[in-house]
Amino acid sequence: MAGVVIVGGGQGGFQAAASLRQEGYEGPVTLVGDEPGLPYQRPPLSKAYLKDGDAARLALRPQAFYAASDIALVHDRATALDRDARKVALASGRVLPYDHLILAPGARNARPPLPGIDAPGVLGLRTLADARALREALPGPDAPIVVIGGGFIGLEFAAVARAHGCAVTVVEAAPRLMSRAVSSETSARFRAKHEALGVALALGVPVTEVLTDPAGRARGVALADGTEIPGALVLLAVGVRPNVELAQAAGLDIADGIAVDAHLLTSDPAISALGDACSFPDPRTRQRVRLESVQAATDHARAIARRLTGRPAPYAALPWFWSDQADWKLQIAGLPPREETATELHDLPRGGFAVHRWEGDVLVCVETVNAPAEHMAARRLLASGPVTRAALAAQEGSLARLAKAG
Ligand SMILES: Cc1cc2nc3c(=O)[nH]c(=O)nc-3n(C[C@H](O)[C@H](O)[C@H](O)COP(=O)(O)OP(=O)(O)OC[C@H]3O[C@@H](n4cnc5c(N)ncnc54)[C@H](O)[C@@H]3O)c2cc1C
Repeated sequence: MAGVVIVGGGQGGFQAAASLRQEGYEGPVTLVGDEPGLPYQRPPLSKAYLKDGDAARLALRPQAFYAASDIALVHDRATALDRDARKVALASGRVLPYDHLILAPGARNARPPLPGIDAPGVLGLRTLADARALREALPGPDAPIVVIGGGFIGLEFAAVARAHGCAVTVVEAAPRLMSRAVSSETSARFRAKHEALGVALALGVPVTEVLTDPAGRARGVALADGTEIPGALVLLAVGVRPNVELAQAAGLDIADGIAVDAHLLTSDPAISALGDACSFPDPRTRQRVRLESVQAATDHARAIARRLTGRPAPYAALPWFWSDQADWKLQIAGLPPREETATELHDLPRGGFAVHRWEGDVLVCVETVNAPAEHMAARRLLASGPVTRAALAAQEGSLARLAKAG
């Protein structure tokens, strides 16, 4: 028996291995990862790790877990798939046979083709190695640094760097922060929050060039309107690209990620895919989506493990997400509406707030800041059925009360 081979030893690949054992799978499980060390969590890389530098705390499980669970960890890179022979070729020359293959290769940072982008001083943030380099490069108080990209990672880093005393400018081509993921109401609140922290924001104007000094090192960025912003450290945080090349070369269907069906199977029934690398049909929005979140990677992994151990079910988990920026915890339940018909902002006790996003009469997404009870209630309610305006209005807009009322 060849068992299950998992390509990608990140959040989803680890979870698939662990869940297979939890679900009682008894065959061989091999987890192939091309990063050094044990599988680890990425979210702290732009949060706690930048402050404390404690890499040991990032591991998803200690070394002993893998031996005790009979999960073979292989540090190598998968380079080719032979689907007919059901084999994965590794960079070392090793070949692993499989009965079922799970592709969990994640994503990599996007690198726009800007002049100067490869200059020393321009860093990304995806891996522990990236985070180490970024932490070491963080200059002292008052030194100017530039963040290209006003999404979650750029803003989380900006908040940490600002707390460190750096003079941070976030440059974002879109007219508002986190525009792909949150409502304009939440964007506006975060804009005010970052400005209050002392982060300078340059919104609505794209970067055209990374400026370099005579030695070729980054010294700042130039914007399309001619503005120059200084910074010897430039964080590039403009999104990611799914790692589809291995799947694509093997002839699997690709659609903004490795395309999977409602059971998270690729176009080859012996191969599943999960996490940042895959796009899947979301039953609520009836759209093919690709999500970059711990929730998606882990829930995909659990669903695949259940299918492989005889409990198949269409994937239907509710998407949720979080981001920590200074003392604000943003939590999102559901996906942004396709056609937003209304958005309501509710201020909550202790400085928190909630934004309800509606499509017609149905609540589809709830953004909260520092309101964990509302977030948890939103997750329960959105997962279990439609929430209507009338039902929520009867509880004065409180999701926690609506959940309690049953
Ligand atoms: C800085 C940062 C902060 C984040 N914060 C949050 C957050 O607050 N909340 C949240 O929900 N999500 C957050 N995320 C996103 C979350 O970490 C990802 O969505 C999640 O890790 C995706 O899991 P995955 O298994 O699909 O991919 P990954 O965890 O990226 O794992 C993929 C692994 O596969 C390896 N690999 C790729 N190709 C091969 C190959 N051919 N052979 C072998 N190995 C291969 C990669 O090197 C990598 O180790 C954050 C991400 C980053 C980078």
